Amino acid sequence: MKLKSYISGAWQEGGGQAAKLINPATEEVLAESSTHGIDFAAALEHARGVGGPALRRLTFAERAVCLQAMYDALYGHREELIELSIRNGGNTRNDAKFDVDGASATLLAYAAYGGQLGEQTILLDGEPDQLGRTPRYAGRHILTPLRGAAVHINAYNFPAWGFAEKAAVAVLAGMPVISKPATSTALLAHRIMEILLDAGAVPEGALSFIAGSAGDLLDHLGPQDVLAFTGSGDTAARLRRIDAHTRASARINVEADSLNAALLGPDVAVGSETWQMMIREITTDVRQKAGQKCTAIRRVLVPPARIEECVGALEAQLASITVGDPAHADVRMGPLVNAAQRDDVRAGVAAIGAEAARVCGDPEPTGLTGVEDGRGFFVTPFLFRCEDAAAAEAIHAREVFGPAVTVMGYDAVEDAVALCARGGGALVSSVYSDDRAFARDMLVALAPYHGRLTLGGEKVAGISPGPGTVMPAMVHGGPGRAGGGEELGGLRGLSFYLQRTAVQGYRPLIEKFFPSTTEDQQQD
Ligand code: NAP
Repeated sequence: MKLKSYISGAWQEGGGQAAKLINPATEEVLAESSTHGIDFAAALEHARGVGGPALRRLTFAERAVCLQAMYDALYGHREELIELSIRNGGNTRNDAKFDVDGASATLLAYAAYGGQLGEQTILLDGEPDQLGRTPRYAGRHILTPLRGAAVHINAYNFPAWGFAEKAAVAVLAGMPVISKPATSTALLAHRIMEILLDAGAVPEGALSFIAGSAGDLLDHLGPQDVLAFTGSGDTAARLRRIDAHTRASARINVEADSLNAALLGPDVAVGSETWQMMIREITTDVRQKAGQKCTAIRRVLVPPARIEECVGALEAQLASITVGDPAHADVRMGPLVNAAQRDDVRAGVAAIGAEAARVCGDPEPTGLTGVEDGRGFFVTPFLFRCEDAAAAEAIHAREVFGPAVTVMGYDAVEDAVALCARGGGALVSSVYSDDRAFARDMLVALAPYHGRLTLGGEKVAGISPGPGTVMPAMVHGGPGRAGGGEELGGLRGLSFYLQRTAVQGYRPLIEKFFPSTTEDQQQD
């Protein structure tokens, strides 16, 4: 099967040498893709000239109908999408559902936001302000969609959710999308795009799709285009150097890597509900998608007196995880996505192993469920114990994008904050405590280094989805090494695609042109 790109209103096949998409458990080749020879300048023109105007003609409520149609179409093909995710992503069925259902839930959430915004085509920000001494002169801020295209480049680990969390927001804001998944797992995103286009869920030009390399696409970006990127810090650094950004100020949002932490409060007793919650959430983050999750807990900070029990409890959980071909129902952790990622994880755990004792984890496992020895890109879950957290370097600087976590001790509260901060800025960290004063202090102290914080405790032990789950209502992104970006967060996410403009003039006119409520608008 040769994957095609949907560009300029047609499915197009690239020429030349093709990249191979494989099943990472069996190494079977599933598909090929190439974008060689595709005219990306024309792709941008089509999105800007056809998709943009079509979307901007719609009210927010009408765009919400598009998002609902996208949701309906995907939900109708849920089983097929899960199956593809298992085969091309190395996901267990539960991991596949996490991605596919996460995509659907995000589309649905933004359909609801659109419904709330109703029959408007632009947004207002704040109330009118009197400017100067006379009340006749006033100003207010309006938000209108940019006139370019929104280019979305996604990481390999969430081909469905990664697409939806960006596309839902851009479509609702009124910007056409050109979506590029990572090549290695593009099969799922490709099928999603086929389903959406066949369903006619959005106007022509609102969704375009690149199956493979982005070619020279970014060379053609202009000042009204935006680039939302998710992936490694190294690729992000390259993309930040494109002319459209450095010279024409085209916006770039970066969601990069992260050394998320879990922090146990001194008040938490071993075996308590809060303790068990922490052990459960760490275990999930190591196992789920074989740790290939940007939000996964990588570092666990506990009071020194709790290290022994914490390591023991995690070892019991992690060492018992059944690793193998995720097509088998009893397998709970699948492979890494390809040989390059497996090699990177092997190098990463070797670096951490130089600073911490390896409690469990095998970089070259054999005898896995349903796997021919030597086939596929497997490792087993790694647990490390670090005796000197302050002296460690790699643990706080190297993201091992796989099933690995390190437990270490902290002495004073300030030490814990300082250790978390050595991650250089993170997407999310979690605090586990039922001591309200400690919990609040930690949340406030950690906030400058994080885009999101979760507070675990006995009141939420049974209901929290854990720090690894990104919710559409909450911002996703983080400072520093996490990329400095921000996505989702309900309506906050729309501002990336909208220009905020201060409009000043004769107050009655400003109020007439930009009335505060739709009711005022209708009376006019
Ligand atoms: P990656 O190698 O940086 O690739 C990410 C995307 O960038 C892929 O679609 C890739 O396309 C594309 N790309 C690479 N070079 C490019 C270039 N010069 N021009 C245009 N596009 C280019 O990252 P990955 O291996 O897919 O993902 C793993 C990383 O992503 C991890 O570090 C993880 O922490 C991070 N991540 C972060 C988040 C978050 O929300 N913060 C979420 C998920 C993953 P090709 O595949 O075609 O090369």
